[in-house]
Amino acid sequence: KENSSRENNVAKIKVVVRKRPLNKKEIARKEDDVVTVSDDVYLAVHEPKLKVDLTAYVEKHEFCFDAVLDEHVTNDEVYRNTVEPIIPTIFQRTKATCFAYGQTGSGKTYTMQPLPLRAAEDLVRYLHQPVYRNQRFKLWLSYFEIYGGKLFDLLSDRKKLCMREDGRQQVCIVGLQEFEVLDVQIVKEYIEKGNAARSTGSTGANEESSRSHAILQLAVKKHNEVKESKRNIDGNDAKNAKVVGKISFIDLAGSERGADTTDNDRQTRIEGAEINKSLLALKECIRALDNDQIHIPFRGSKLTEVLRDSFVGNSRTVMISCISPNAGSCEHTLNTLRYADRVK
Ligand code: ADP
Ligand code: MG
Repeated sequence: KENSSRENNVAKIKVVVRKRPLNKKEIARKEDDVVTVSDDVYLAVHEPKLKVDLTAYVEKHEFCFDAVLDEHVTNDEVYRNTVEPIIPTIFQRTKATCFAYGQTGSGKTYTMQPLPLRAAEDLVRYLHQPVYRNQRFKLWLSYFEIYGGKLFDLLSDRKKLCMREDGRQQVCIVGLQEFEVLDVQIVKEYIEKGNAARSTGSTGANEESSRSHAILQLAVKKHNEVKESKRNIDGNDAKNAKVVGKISFIDLAGSERGADTTDNDRQTRIEGAEINKSLLALKECIRALDNDQIHIPFRGSKLTEVLRDSFVGNSRTVMISCISPNAGSCEHTLNTLRYADRVK
């Protein structure tokens, strides 16, 4: 298994855990930090429990992952540990995915935000290298959201999108806008614009965005020589070019939302069921990938259907499981670690 899951010295599937520091509120409440990171692959959760006679005791749960990043690790180090090694493989027809999984407030967005920026920086640098400079490669960016099982373009006024299969295992999201990345500064602007367009509903930003999956894709495409006049017909030649490789950054819905299936509110219940379905399907797909299964069960949810071309062929998957350190989050933290453990 060790051999089959490694090509180019980059693991096919990597599962990383990141612990965030206690926040001001948790410190003010004098909450205990129950997560100890013993070295760069092991961690333990000290779960406070009560016996039947109400005496307190602590149950220790130990886990081992490809990497465990404690609260002192910077976003820069996260990048170097997760995405950076994958970048060169994008030029060798790799479709890569990087997920942030965890309960709301565990640091998914904090972790995910800077990654596409750094990746774009590196990808653009590669594009300018002599070997690639004359190959008519271009870098394209798109950013969309899956909310309640439907797709919305975050870079064009939340336009509703639909998906089409082109019979060649290529996913085609009809109408999704792609923008050429010429310099890195523009990536930051796209990310900010897209974030502002994420589902906010009436109850406030974090509340609603925790019910959606946000997907930012960077695709390297090879362009045919086209006459200038033809190219200008739609002003956007991304659709006419062939994908060389791509990387998708996915800020998943809060994992606790999958449990909203018994909520009193009908809409919340429907969304909860959809999230639950997609997170289960994701786990199944990654496991199938890891076992080199021919059949990947991507039809299980919209999320996995959208990512189907990233689950076949030359793929790389990084799962970053984000966890909160406070005692009050213990149950969610254990759920997140068990999910990550099963993916591995
Ligand atoms: P999520 O997207 O999982 O709901 P956020 O990324 O919004 O969680 O993080 C919740 C809060 O914790 C934010 O205020 C964020 O700035 C802070 N935070 C998360 N991770 C870290 C970290 N590693 N270091 C410092 N602050 C963090
Ligand atoms: Mg978030």
